[in-house]
Amino acid sequence: MANPTQITASTCCYCGVGCGVLIEHDGEKILGVAGDPSHPANFGKLCSKGSTLHLTGDLDARGQHPQLRLGKSLARARTGWDSALDHTASVFAETILEHGPDSVAFYISGQLLTEDYYAFNKLARALVGTHNIDSNSRLCMSSAVVGYKRSLGADAPPCSYRDIELSDCLLIVGSNMAYAHPVLFRRLEEAKARRPEMKVIVIDPRRTDTCELADLHLAILPGTDVALFHGILHLLLWEGWIDRAYIDAHTEGFAALKNLVRDYTPAAVADICGISREALQSCAQWIGQAPSFLSLWCMGLNQSTAGSAKNSALINLHLATGQIGKPGAGPFSLTGQPNAMGGRETGSLSNLLPGHREAGNAEHRAEVAAYWGIDALPETPGLSAIELFDAVHDGRIKALWIACTNPAQSLPDQSKIHEALTNCPFVVVQEAFFTTETCHYADLLLPAASWGEKEGTVTNSERRVSHVRRAVPAPFEARPDWSITCDFARRLETLLRPGLPSLFDFPNSEALFEEYKHLTTQRDLDLSGLSYALLDDLGPQQWPFPAGAQGGSERLYADGRFPTVSGRAQFLAEPYRAAKERRESRYSLTLNTGRLRDQWHGMSRTGTAAQLFGHVEGPVLGLHPDELRRRRLTDGDLVRLRSRRGSLILPVQVDDSVRPGQAWLPMHWGNRFLRGLGTNVLTQPAFDPLSKQPELKHAGVEVDRV
Ligand code: SF4
Repeated sequence: MANPTQITASTCCYCGVGCGVLIEHDGEKILGVAGDPSHPANFGKLCSKGSTLHLTGDLDARGQHPQLRLGKSLARARTGWDSALDHTASVFAETILEHGPDSVAFYISGQLLTEDYYAFNKLARALVGTHNIDSNSRLCMSSAVVGYKRSLGADAPPCSYRDIELSDCLLIVGSNMAYAHPVLFRRLEEAKARRPEMKVIVIDPRRTDTCELADLHLAILPGTDVALFHGILHLLLWEGWIDRAYIDAHTEGFAALKNLVRDYTPAAVADICGISREALQSCAQWIGQAPSFLSLWCMGLNQSTAGSAKNSALINLHLATGQIGKPGAGPFSLTGQPNAMGGRETGSLSNLLPGHREAGNAEHRAEVAAYWGIDALPETPGLSAIELFDAVHDGRIKALWIACTNPAQSLPDQSKIHEALTNCPFVVVQEAFFTTETCHYADLLLPAASWGEKEGTVTNSERRVSHVRRAVPAPFEARPDWSITCDFARRLETLLRPGLPSLFDFPNSEALFEEYKHLTTQRDLDLSGLSYALLDDLGPQQWPFPAGAQGGSERLYADGRFPTVSGRAQFLAEPYRAAKERRESRYSLTLNTGRLRDQWHGMSRTGTAAQLFGHVEGPVLGLHPDELRRRRLTDGDLVRLRSRRGSLILPVQVDDSVRPGQAWLPMHWGNRFLRGLGTNVLTQPAFDPLSKQPELKHAGVEVDRV
């Protein structure tokens, strides 16, 4: 007899909006999904991806049992968890003892839960003794992290989703929010319908669906954002639309910035950005005269060799106008992945430590080491994603653990990544879906639990922590990520620190959360007042939420004090620098990559639901009609798209949302759908010098008929 239907409240596992979902199940199988009306991120709404989550549980795609191979030329064979983890602990221990702790590395994911992240961090830094742990959040939000820290003193988005509804002037830059954060975009659409006088400005080289809502679309040339922001500030100064009292009371460094932006005249900026002076003037006027001004951004700013400078230049506009720390105002990054925020909080970038600490700060290392009860954390800096795979490629890293991410599709310059993974002596892949490209390279493949099958917490874009609840058991032998990590760590401990008490004695995910949260006490993100029980009683909460607090914090910096050394926010004066690969005769087009409405990342999950191909069936290259005419191409022709790093063969499509001189290709297509190594065979590994985030959205390409 079938079990009675039950409902479990949890969260969506896709984007950083962090919608609450109600999972309908019978205790064994997930049967349906609906939006959670009580969740403050979405109030019951779901987008096309969230509302089809129950259709993406294809068991054929799921990992069933651990698989191990004892030589690169051998096929992987089914094995038990004990033998898999014992073998791997001995490989890691031998590698560490022979080549040092920095000869191993961990590459993890913004889709892990906070407890998973914490377990991996403790494993890498406390047990192995390396900071070689980085996350695919490096490809996503690391420029925003640097932007917030340099300008405001802490990696803390200061706004709430409610500010989107309250704002008088809203600037969306480098984000196709209608596709990438759809439920939040619906909230904006409804707010604009209620208050049509609200101004919406979209800055994007492409005319995306988000532009449908815009009062003004500035189709700037790719990579020219810093020049644009300086040009806007030039006009704000000229017109007297700055808040001098706020600047004097709460900021530092304005004189140098004022000096810099003097050269960013409307004529010069219009020329650099490829827009009209009138459009620039309107943009500055609406920002300068709005009672409240909010900016939203995503990968268009972050995935750039100037990502940090772009973030700072945008935050400069808020500081100059005093538009921060009040309703409807502030700089607000939209997190790409569901728990990239939780990763930043637990220290899951190589340069970070738990509690928004820095791995390069001796005092911070000592605090964390003391809390963990170990002598010290390593001093040698860890490697960021691109550097880490370079080290795999040249043989410095000999054992690599990859969890819940697909670098053999998502990293730039794929040919090099595939070489690196082929030659790495030992690769562990911990994955829910054994269909990803990276799984081909695994010496050990471990089946992980997935959405609806594990418990923990996530933090969404507005700093809101939700309790993620388990509805059904994981299929086959799959296990929660934190449980795999801790089981492996306990085995490695017996080899690296025999006889000492375990650092990984966690019976469940709640025990990990309880240990982790005290590492945030009195830090900017203080979570010490939260618990699973409190989240169940009060619902999802925004940090900071210190012990004893009655509620979370909707907005930061309302008092004008910032967590910098001086207590003042910092203006940063950095000139515009062009993107790395400029157009030239051999590569006359600039490739822009981005998201589709109904697909997620490498499509390991969304690619299993037929109805999610109703919007876009397969890969096509978008080109302006002039570019097709110039090449004597017609819609649907098969072309070779090539960059300095590789090429793809795919059909071309007339697309007048793309400006002449540019090309558009979604990021999702891997080699299951494309002849070649997928979209990222073309993209470049050049990265921002501070955030180390690669320039995934800008590459020189050319198109030839095949
Ligand atoms: Fe999931 Fe994001 Fe869609 Fe919400 S907006 S349902 S979090 S994909």
